[in-house]
Amino acid sequence: MNNNKTKDQKGCARKDQKGYASKVVVFGVVQGVGFRPFIYRLANKFHYKGWVKNIGFGVEIHVESEVKTDFKDFLKALQEKKPPLSLIEEITHRPVPPFRNLKDFSIKKSKQGESFVFISPDISICDSCHKEMMNPSDRRFHYPFINCTNCGPRYTIVKFLPYDRKQTTMETFKMCVDCSREYTNPLDRRYHAQPIACPVCGPRVSLVVSGTGKAIKGGISKAASLIKEGKILAVKGLGGFHLVCNALNYEAVRRLRKTKERKIKPFALMARNLDIIGKYAFLSPAEKKMLLSARRPIVLLKKKREINGIAPFLDEMGFMLPYTPLHYLLLEHLDLIVATSSNKKDAPIMKNEEEGIEEFCDYILTHNRPIHMRADDSVLRIVDGEPLFLRRARGYVPYPQGVPRELESPHHILALGGELKDTISLYKNGYVITSQFLGDLDEYQNYKYFEETIHHLTELFEVKPEIVISDLHPDFHTTRYAQKSGLPHFQVQHHFAHILAPLLEHKIPPQKKVLGVSFDGYGYGEDGLAWGGEFLLADYSSYQRFAHFKYVPLPGGDLASKQPWRMALSYLVEAFNSKLPKVKALEKVSKNKIKSVMSMIEEKINSPLSSSCGRLFDAVSFLLGFSPLEIEFEAEAPMRLESAAEKGIEESYGFSVKGNLPPYQISFVQTIKLILKDLEQEIPPSFISAKFHNTLARVIVSTAERARKNHDIDTVVLVGGVFLNKKLLHRATTLLEKKKFKVLRSTNYSPNDESISIGQIAYGLNKIIEKG
Ligand SMILES: [Zn+2]
Ligand SMILES: [Zn+2]
Repeated sequence: MNNNKTKDQKGCARKDQKGYASKVVVFGVVQGVGFRPFIYRLANKFHYKGWVKNIGFGVEIHVESEVKTDFKDFLKALQEKKPPLSLIEEITHRPVPPFRNLKDFSIKKSKQGESFVFISPDISICDSCHKEMMNPSDRRFHYPFINCTNCGPRYTIVKFLPYDRKQTTMETFKMCVDCSREYTNPLDRRYHAQPIACPVCGPRVSLVVSGTGKAIKGGISKAASLIKEGKILAVKGLGGFHLVCNALNYEAVRRLRKTKERKIKPFALMARNLDIIGKYAFLSPAEKKMLLSARRPIVLLKKKREINGIAPFLDEMGFMLPYTPLHYLLLEHLDLIVATSSNKKDAPIMKNEEEGIEEFCDYILTHNRPIHMRADDSVLRIVDGEPLFLRRARGYVPYPQGVPRELESPHHILALGGELKDTISLYKNGYVITSQFLGDLDEYQNYKYFEETIHHLTELFEVKPEIVISDLHPDFHTTRYAQKSGLPHFQVQHHFAHILAPLLEHKIPPQKKVLGVSFDGYGYGEDGLAWGGEFLLADYSSYQRFAHFKYVPLPGGDLASKQPWRMALSYLVEAFNSKLPKVKALEKVSKNKIKSVMSMIEEKINSPLSSSCGRLFDAVSFLLGFSPLEIEFEAEAPMRLESAAEKGIEESYGFSVKGNLPPYQISFVQTIKLILKDLEQEIPPSFISAKFHNTLARVIVSTAERARKNHDIDTVVLVGGVFLNKKLLHRATTLLEKKKFKVLRSTNYSPNDESISIGQIAYGLNKIIEKG
């Protein structure tokens, strides 16, 4: 990728003159994060002359000295002391002839039209700004829009690149003399901080009565007292509005659930500080560090003390710390609030008042800095010391992902992802940019958001797609979009794309074959059936279906994924035919319903076949009494099953493998029978749940060993939404590593369908190489 033509050789000093110079090029997220002023200060410290300027992908630095040096200390300091928001991908340096006539070190103006400039995600307020905000003699005392080059909004306010104030939603705010002075001084922390603002010249908050639009006095502290009283407020954050209420006021929480039509789906919490979180949840050092990181994700933590109505039936709660100055000022007066995305059911997070926010709240705490791009909070848990993303958005998007060198291509690619939990990815010049989570594209509002995001990101990064990639599913909106684009179009099988995502992330070279364990709810198979419990031998170019869960009917089609009792019946019929044993959980279902679903299964009416792992979890969760008749949110039944699983259990159930040749079929008939036997003997369901988790881990290990024997595989990739299950992921990883397998999983992206678009890019890049 280092093919930028440089022009600094011209006018070089004659070789006979004394002096030493080096040209340093830094690639990565180094623009709009205070990198050039940092280099300016660093070069001055070393008494070097020269300049720094932005180029496509990074910055170019010319340093020279009259004293003999190899610039090693300078390069070391550059890497060690780099600004907190920057991300260095690569540094190159080489000696060049000195100019000798330079007077100082300067920051050169950036040239227009240089492409693929990276932009930082939105980042939490930094310590220096926080200190100033809390200092009564500072001119930004209690100012909710304080920021500097090390912190504040970025991705959500940028309209175009290069990143410059007039290309952001700050364009309408005219800088005052004081801000202007800071903005133009290379030694100031706010030098070229594009969202720079102060109470004199910047954005302001207002508190409005919902529905009437009437502004009331008191601002943030009044908002806090309204929350204390039990009111529901909409609060404008970085990538959209939160709906906020007092988390410890059950009546307020209940009312919020009613207006949001969300009976039990967990709410995220924002706490004033770690001490408060520590009262309600267990915190490991890695979890603390993650909560405090500048990216400020929601971290799921093991419950210590229940908070009524926040995350019923689950053993974790999601916490975050304040991340905007406004949040900090609000939480000055409050301990713990619910802070949930302000979306209507199945629609994207709201970014302005006109989208109907007043339906959901009593008051609106808003401000006049527009949000250009929506972004939800990111959500993750820590598993074995590493992040496991449930949702990757604010704070992480649009960080670039480098691809393996062998896959680099001059062509631009657009990958559209799947359908549920969609993201899009763009490829250009060695890097993939993946969008924030966009939601379920079958919903009209989300589909609009998808189109809006493609438009925005291709414009922002000047990507002109030459190839478009979608899922294999013929009826997905993404596939239709690709077909209409008029571009060359590749389709990639869902579970194969899942596996390729971590291969790209970990820069696994082409030709390396792995066993991909791709477990999720649903993906369109090449045989037209619903896949989801898949073992694929794969490299970037192709896959072989090595094994899969034995197909079972999905009685009622889509309904089967919403009503876990249907899957329980399906597995029972599989195991016992029509002579159903007595199962307590089934007493909740009417006899007529059971009868009609059984005949659907037996007569193969509206019962498509599926190898889904998600549906197996649904069935077991229901049989053990953890799942309701109808779920409210995706993966609810498996999450309840996981939450209930007892710790420290080593036992597991039997299963069987059918077939003499791949694809082998893994049957859970035996497992289901043994589970029923345990239930009959009144073994606690929490114990059975643990045994079931262990069984799946054993299925993975035994299939991996079979693959190693026949195909010389040493690496196993764990992907798909099922691997959001912490217990299964940890157990499978431990057992595989014990058997000397190398285990790969995604730590920068979610293993769920959010990563499909990344895998699609990997496939496309390899395809380009194969085609020569
Ligand atoms: Zn700051
Ligand atoms: Zn100002």
